[in-house]
Amino acid sequence: MINEFPQALSIAGSDSGGGAGMQADLKTMQMRHVFATTVLVAITAQNTLGVQDAMPLPKKIIDEQFSSLSADLKIRACKTGMLADTETVETVVANLRQSDFGPLVVDPVMIAKGGAHLLTDEAISTVRTKLLPLADLVTPNLPEAEALAEMTIKNNADMKKAGQRLQALGAKNVLVKGGHFNDQKQASDFVLLADGSSFWMISPRIDTKRTHGTGDTISACITAELAKGVSMENAIRIGKAYVEATIRDGIQVGHGHGPLNHWA
Ligand code: PLP
Repeated sequence: MINEFPQALSIAGSDSGGGAGMQADLKTMQMRHVFATTVLVAITAQNTLGVQDAMPLPKKIIDEQFSSLSADLKIRACKTGMLADTETVETVVANLRQSDFGPLVVDPVMIAKGGAHLLTDEAISTVRTKLLPLADLVTPNLPEAEALAEMTIKNNADMKKAGQRLQALGAKNVLVKGGHFNDQKQASDFVLLADGSSFWMISPRIDTKRTHGTGDTISACITAELAKGVSMENAIRIGKAYVEATIRDGIQVGHGHGPLNHWA
């Protein structure tokens, strides 16, 4: 019975404010009844008002965290979040190539809602060429999809085209999140599956400032479901429903962009 319980891994940066990053991943996986493990790659000094400082961790301790996990646990799905810089992306890629941690969800975190850069511009091309080919799913928001697919996205047809480009770059499945189209009454997300089929997930736009950590939360929920053996399509649909509920019933802590409510 050793190692039978579903275990997932979050490879991400810490948000001291508790709303996003590694902390959002842990809270989400816990709520989905999956045992969460972590490889911490960066630390941010952050609250609901923004990111005050950030520091990537040295390669050695990142490598050692991966070694510790693969020596003992049976991880069935993993995700990446904030990866900070080129060296960190390369370290993570090398470790993912070496060990089997199950399906990989790449949340290509780039810029926080407050404007802080969580990935250097230079590292974007490393994510594109080295991490995307390992991804079972990539979950960009619109600015991230634009940066990775190297195109402008103005409408739903562009979202579809960006999804196809990301698949051509090696990601097996793609979820392009449309929440950044601020002028629309609906939030439309485009999903392109490995077999070439696609669908839209449409939900009413919720007017709220409490959206800190939405990207982390949906990708962590999908990862948790994959760790339980749920299919990619169902995991994505469950992720969407989960994040919608946590946004709708947000809680207010701090003075800025509040966190999601994982008890919703
Ligand atoms: N901080 C860290 C460490 C993150 O990983 C993320 C995730 O995207 C954020 C902040 C950004 O959160 P948001 O853009 O939702 O405010």
